[in-house]
Amino acid sequence: PGRADVIDGEAVAASVRESVTAAVGRLGEAGVTPGLATVLMSDDPASETYVRMKQRDCEQVGIESHHVEIDTDAPQSELFATIDQLNEDPAIDGILIQRPLTEGVDEPAALRRVDPEKDVDGFHPENVGRLVTGDPRFVPCTPLGVQRLLTEAGVEIPGSDVVIVGRSELVGKPLANLLLGRDDDADATVTVCHSNTEDLANHVSRADVVVVAAGVPRLVTGEMLAEGSVVIDVGINAVGEGDDRTLVGDVDYESASEVASAITPVPGGVGPMTRAMLLRNTVNAAARQAGVEIDS
Ligand code: NDP
Repeated sequence: PGRADVIDGEAVAASVRESVTAAVGRLGEAGVTPGLATVLMSDDPASETYVRMKQRDCEQVGIESHHVEIDTDAPQSELFATIDQLNEDPAIDGILIQRPLTEGVDEPAALRRVDPEKDVDGFHPENVGRLVTGDPRFVPCTPLGVQRLLTEAGVEIPGSDVVIVGRSELVGKPLANLLLGRDDDADATVTVCHSNTEDLANHVSRADVVVVAAGVPRLVTGEMLAEGSVVIDVGINAVGEGDDRTLVGDVDYESASEVASAITPVPGGVGPMTRAMLLRNTVNAAARQAGVEIDS
């Protein structure tokens, strides 16, 4: 075991869920029950598991979950009609389209179809644009979770050098935009690296904070890191076969924890935070739509 502090994502996620539960209570007093719709159009077993987990999470905090499953053979118009219905349904505050959608479906078109006021994933171009222009409404859950882990770990984000490895629309890009904001839990100097970055190690080695979301097992190792840096590992990769199958992150935990001052484990780091932030976005959506002030 290394000497880095372990950032306990399960514990922070539990405290987020607690405040969400309290917010659900305040909404209840105002006669509002928040509702999240999950839409699945895929045979992917991992997606089925994720959707089930999200439903269970909702139950735990008092959010009503509504699940719609669309046959993978159905025309895409059926998906769009479902989204239209959910947009109109006053019992639904948040809509989550589980990705990846089955092949042949125009995914960007599906995401654009979701009412931006119900877009708790923060993927609608309007919400992406609001984040980029410094007026965020719904921010994607994983970046929100990463930011919260950093503040909980006591990282002074303003003025810090943050290197993000990965530029996906899901994680890297929205996180970069979030941490570039002018708020007290942002205001960092952000560098975004990707597969065409020359000398990744050089960038990583001068960072105060390294966030890795590349989908490459053990891409970042201890010898690349600056002494005392804080490492957030977003990656979830299944390696090995049969009984040897395990989950590893994008960071080589063993060597990194010898050098870093704090590090997230995989599993138990960013994963639970992503799930908790979906709940938070959903109560915020419900509060906005009902015009109720909650402090979540
Ligand atoms: P994507 O595959 O969409 O993006 C990966 C990014 O990493 C790309 O920008 C890619 O560059 C970059 N990259 C790939 N290889 C390298 C390399 N060798 N050096 C530098 N950059 C590289 O992945 P996601 O962002 O969707 O997910 C990343 C990881 O996080 C995955 O393991 C995923 O499972 C996990 N994940 C975990 C979540 C959680 O809640 N914990 C939530 C979401 C994702 P380029 O753009 O040039 O291709």
